[in-house]
Amino acid sequence: MKQNLNNTKPPFRKLRGYAFDPSLSNRIDTAFINDIVYKVIWEDDLKDGPIGDYIEVIDYDPTIGKFFKPVNLNDSYILAQDGLSPSESNPQFHQQMVYAVAMTTIKNFEKALGRPILWNQRKILVKSKTSKKKKEQSSESGYKYSTEYVQRLRIYPHAFRDANAYYSPQKKSLLFGYFSSRPADPTIQMPDTLIFTCLSHDIIAHETTHAILDGIYDRYSDDTNPDMLAFHEAFADIVALFQHFTFPEVLKHQIAKTKGDLSSQNLLGELAQEFGSAIGGYGALRSAIGYIDPVTKQWRPKIPNGDEYQTITEPHHRGAILVSAVFEAFLSIYSNRIADLLRIATSGSGILPEGELHPDLVNRLASEASKVAGHVLQMCIRAIDFCPPVDITFGDYLRAIITADAELISDDSRNYRLAFIDSFRKRGIYPEGIKSLSVESLCYPENNERNLDSTFSILTKFLRQFSGEIIYADSQDYIGDARKVYQDSTDNSSIDISGVSNQNTRENIFNITRDYIIGRYRTGKSDINGLHRRIYQKFEGAPEFQKLTGLAFGRNWEDLGVTSSIIDGSRGPSFWIHSLKLSSRVGPTGSKSNQIILSLIQEAGIEVKTSGSETMINTFIPKIGLNETKNKFNLVGGVTMIFDLDTLKLKYAISKPLIDIQSIKNYEDAKINEKRALQIFQYYNNSQVSSFQAHFCPGRHNSTFETFSFLHHH
Ligand SMILES: [Zn+2]
Repeated sequence: MKQNLNNTKPPFRKLRGYAFDPSLSNRIDTAFINDIVYKVIWEDDLKDGPIGDYIEVIDYDPTIGKFFKPVNLNDSYILAQDGLSPSESNPQFHQQMVYAVAMTTIKNFEKALGRPILWNQRKILVKSKTSKKKKEQSSESGYKYSTEYVQRLRIYPHAFRDANAYYSPQKKSLLFGYFSSRPADPTIQMPDTLIFTCLSHDIIAHETTHAILDGIYDRYSDDTNPDMLAFHEAFADIVALFQHFTFPEVLKHQIAKTKGDLSSQNLLGELAQEFGSAIGGYGALRSAIGYIDPVTKQWRPKIPNGDEYQTITEPHHRGAILVSAVFEAFLSIYSNRIADLLRIATSGSGILPEGELHPDLVNRLASEASKVAGHVLQMCIRAIDFCPPVDITFGDYLRAIITADAELISDDSRNYRLAFIDSFRKRGIYPEGIKSLSVESLCYPENNERNLDSTFSILTKFLRQFSGEIIYADSQDYIGDARKVYQDSTDNSSIDISGVSNQNTRENIFNITRDYIIGRYRTGKSDINGLHRRIYQKFEGAPEFQKLTGLAFGRNWEDLGVTSSIIDGSRGPSFWIHSLKLSSRVGPTGSKSNQIILSLIQEAGIEVKTSGSETMINTFIPKIGLNETKNKFNLVGGVTMIFDLDTLKLKYAISKPLIDIQSIKNYEDAKINEKRALQIFQYYNNSQVSSFQAHFCPGRHNSTFETFSFLHHH
């Protein structure tokens, strides 16, 4: 690359912050590890706030009606000192802290997913006649959803006075509260200290992850099975936990302290220490590996069993089961990797002598732990692209982790996949519909429906054209690791990026994607015949496509309760293109994969009638804005299809079927998936869950679901 020594853009902006939260800076044993320097991707146009490309910090405190002065991170004194120094009393530092942690989280996602992340678009329900033609999803109900690009997530560091923090999908905002501490015991913490949730790395990373996940799958806030909301919580905790391990000083300190045994009590496996104590607990709010016994005040390891997954329903607690499964997988991979080091250090006995570990050994163990943690974090994030777009369960997630990993890394010599399978099994988490718990059966099968090959080949050529435009839009921008993937795949020396504005790259990607989905007549460029229309033209009435996707593409869609759409003057079943994404990933051996991930969603109206022991399932054509009841609801089906751009083939179709796939023999006899309909009906009628819904999501549909809180209040 052309290097200009005088004005080379720095890769990072260094910003000081807490590794955990302020409480650790007040304790003599942890004070020196808690102040760390976050390396945040450099943003040229960072405005006071900070307001950058991805986020916008707005420091208004409505409880006192006051705006705090926004920090200017480009101030030369601040720049020269790696940002403001950590301080509980300086609101400008609070702004810097939320910016640093949110951007760190975003960067981790972009690295794993191989693309820039986009926030969930704003959906606006409008009357058909007045809507602009370009942005709509068609239907016959007289209403249409119009979408609007969301450039920045808003972050309010002092949003309210309460012991909580939220992501609001409607406001596209993170809201952080503050409160006076109420410790269970004055020796743990000074009572009435002001606690700011916006100063906790874990809480910021957790809430940012909610927002990122909502941008990928907005239907994951639909509470359609006991795992859905729990998955949101668990995933947010997993990202916060494993991000800890990217801080080398903390890692070395904790490894020295635990003598390398990370399954004993340590800071790395814990979430929100200060918050946990301040609301009257005896330790961190959540821990992946253990807990403080409220009677004896002693730390105890958690012993996994299969009962919890059967009985616990509150989302954070249920999510903790998944978090501990992932953490245990991490621990067993780590122990495997350090076994030889321990043998060397102990002349073969494996038993460490009394006293402190040699600093060289600490460094080696820390380097292994950080490597494994990085891998596990990337595996967990990457798996997201291999999940169905609706109705996910923990078992589906396990399959996604295994498939995504096998896809990128063929040789699993370190047994990472087995470690995951084992720790999920210990908690009784099994995917539905597989015959054994082996890597082979957990991996989603590669598509072998050859009848559609030629059709998919045409479609994939179209998708390749799409990827070309996305890569072009993205290569205009040189910030972030994920984008480096594209740089590396071309001859670096031939790209001259000087003078190219990096503004609005993500907006360009959003616009190009929308054009490719709904089609567009363009001046100066060739017209795009949209993907939505192409799928109609190619697959309407194709029984193989129904079987592959589990969605109604046959001729009897209205009997199945699916609304009609008019495309090119003819009627067909309506469906949504939920998302269309390009992913460019690089494996550990440098192997590259370019894939298109396409998700489709379809809804059918279901009415369940019970009389005595008899249950009848009928279908009806739903209308937008329908108020769901316990007996009448929309069954949502969806499929995530992964296309390989090099072979032009459809590789995987990961489906939550709307129709009963076994029932398809020809064009007209597909039946609704009664099994899924009944499962959802039974779940909606479970009283325990309903009280949670009554509190948090009265309409059940995501348009009325408002917040993801850090803590659930009863
Ligand atoms: Zn949460």
